[in-house]
Amino acid sequence: PAAVPVTVPGTRASDDRPIPAVLGSDLEVPVRGGRLVRYANLDYAASAPCLEPVSAAVAAALPAYSSVHRGAGYASQLTTARYEQARHTVRAFVGARPDDSVIFTRNTTDATNLLARSLPEGTTTVVFDTEHHASLLPWDRVVRLAAPAFPGEAVRAVDDALASIDGPKLLVVTAASNVTGELWPIAALAHIAHRHGARVLVDAAQLVPHRRLNLTALDLDYVVFSGHKLYAPFGAGALIGRSDWLADAEPYLRGGGAVRAVNDDATEWHDDPEARHEAGTPNVLGAVALAAACDALTATGWTPLVREEERLLGRLRAGLASVPGVHELSLWGPDHPRVGIVSFVVDGFTAREVAEALSGDYGIGVRDGKFCAHPFVRHLLGAKDGGCDDVTASAVRASIGIGTTSEHVDRLIDALRDLASRG
Ligand code: PLP
Repeated sequence: PAAVPVTVPGTRASDDRPIPAVLGSDLEVPVRGGRLVRYANLDYAASAPCLEPVSAAVAAALPAYSSVHRGAGYASQLTTARYEQARHTVRAFVGARPDDSVIFTRNTTDATNLLARSLPEGTTTVVFDTEHHASLLPWDRVVRLAAPAFPGEAVRAVDDALASIDGPKLLVVTAASNVTGELWPIAALAHIAHRHGARVLVDAAQLVPHRRLNLTALDLDYVVFSGHKLYAPFGAGALIGRSDWLADAEPYLRGGGAVRAVNDDATEWHDDPEARHEAGTPNVLGAVALAAACDALTATGWTPLVREEERLLGRLRAGLASVPGVHELSLWGPDHPRVGIVSFVVDGFTAREVAEALSGDYGIGVRDGKFCAHPFVRHLLGAKDGGCDDVTASAVRASIGIGTTSEHVDRLIDALRDLASRG
């Protein structure tokens, strides 16, 4: 297979600040028999716990609290300043170009749908079957590509697909899989897409909690992600990228804030995409939280974060490999670079049985199912078993991040060993 670089350039090589703490690390949960045990949260890919500096930033914003952009009062001005500062922070966090728009949304799904509603007439979207449903489903006119056997095949498949499409084109691709954690060759894919005059949307929901992303260096057109996977509470996400399509599109929501003037016979919408697509009172605290998470990760520096994650991920994967009957799922093989997300199956048990036993007997939180990526999980299970027609078949996913410890990982492995021996 052709080698395609998948590492994300721009990771800083200096910095060694302490990694901030997360809330809830001392949570105790009941297990069978009524005993209380310390909770081992290994479900970061669903929603990561809140960082302490994020909680502090939200608490600091609460006392002076008013609606943005409209009021002349001090609290309104302060809230507006905090909201717009959050936009700057998010812009810097992803290395956006100065003329890119940064639009706050509810989450990644909302951000992707906003772009889907903003495409020029007749745009064809190209997307792999391996995507999360948020990236797979919003498109009206779409070409779906089968799971590629190796990264170079992904590039070739995109090259072939885009060559056969006329008119405006968009490639949608994940930066890091929410099922296997594997990194996708987004720079190579963006390069090939641009050669065909296509634009690229990168779903960075599972990348930004784990690695630095630089939209300008990678030459990406759009990036989306969610605050709740980035150590901030629920309800805020962002779409960042080129302004022209967004400025020309119908407002995503119609209402106050999106409009410049409402006359008797005509409505004038704002041209500025950030106003045009953010009608109604925005989720200011969500944006403040999201920005505080960006600040906290940047201040810590990616080197210590990545180093600690790699240490724990290595321990987790080696542990899984050591338990007879446990099989890790992977698209591009065990050596392909990945973030702290691992999916696996256990011989003799359904994924539901494993997840329920881990929770009920050991106080360990994982996720089971198909992780909103039905075609991909079916593909992975089929590759393992020589074909998978069982629509109920699913996997278990363990995912890590800031606050995960060796003890959490070891408890999972010990519990699986215990469980597998009963299979
Ligand atoms: N994309 C990926 C890769 C994800 O993992 C998720 C969430 O699991 C989403 C998109 C959707 O995120 P949200 O539910 O925050 O919209």
